[in-house]
Amino acid sequence: MSQVVDLHSHSNVSDGLLTPEELVLNAARCGIKVLALTDHDDIGGLSTARQVAEANGIYFIDGVEISVTWKKRTLHIVGLNVDPTNEVLQQVLAQVRKDRDERAMEMANSLAKSGINGAYEGAKGYAGEAILTRMHFAHFLVEKGHAKNVKSVFKKFLVRGKPGFVDHQWMSLEQAVKLIKAAGGTAVIAHPARYKLGMLNTRTLLKEFISYGGESIEVVTGSHAQPDFTKYAGIAEKYKLKASRGSDYHGTGVSFMEMGRLPALPNNCVPVWQGWSEVEAVLAGSLAA
Ligand code: AMP
Ligand code: MN
Ligand code: MN
Ligand code: MN
Repeated sequence: MSQVVDLHSHSNVSDGLLTPEELVLNAARCGIKVLALTDHDDIGGLSTARQVAEANGIYFIDGVEISVTWKKRTLHIVGLNVDPTNEVLQQVLAQVRKDRDERAMEMANSLAKSGINGAYEGAKGYAGEAILTRMHFAHFLVEKGHAKNVKSVFKKFLVRGKPGFVDHQWMSLEQAVKLIKAAGGTAVIAHPARYKLGMLNTRTLLKEFISYGGESIEVVTGSHAQPDFTKYAGIAEKYKLKASRGSDYHGTGVSFMEMGRLPALPNNCVPVWQGWSEVEAVLAGSLAA
């Protein structure tokens, strides 16, 4: 029954293609019953998404995906059930977005050194009012013929050692987890397989994360391959972390995964929504239906 739960998705408030409204309608079409919108470093889409979700029979969870620097790597920490009216959360994220804009200018300067001009304006054309992410630069680079699709952009550009890469300092893991908790939320390590950490670093990360009050890890995500589902289910069990699942949907064509297509959580997982009585009631209902 966990197939109808999607706790990781993006709208065009960050780097998704759909508006919050379109995203929720897409989720409804895909049979999702419990949805979290988790835009990067921004909670501006939550209130619209909630309204549309409630009008379309979807139980909505306020979420966010926070960028973190840990041991010189970028990690993503998802917050679920954060309070969008929490002022500290709002202020800290506003600062992150300001820093993102400076980073975007540096990225454009780096691309200009490789002969690719106009990238800031080009990316901005895709972002509109939204924060500037590497995804927006990727769309610009595809448009200009520098790569055939978004995926191949991230092989030739915008990653360490390639044009357009900027070594940005995001907030610490401790700050992100504590920020999410102080806003009433549950902290989740997003797509752990993407960090390619190795055993030792994985153990260190999990211990640190738990020591700050982190409670959950994504097991089934659009960013994981099939073997990762089993691997991270085992890790979640071992470290007594609750398991989350989400598509990480960004829009058709750019996403790792469409909504509603992922397998259920493996049986040895304790779902992150265990004890969330309203979610459990929705799932009991959809099982009966
Ligand atoms: P940023 O937070 O600005 O560094 O942008 C990161 C975003 O770029 C991620 O959230 C993804 O949407 C996208 N991204 C990063 N790596 C890849 C990849 N290998 N393939 C497709 N999209 C990617
Ligand atoms: Mn993204
Ligand atoms: Mn992510
Ligand atoms: Mn994401």
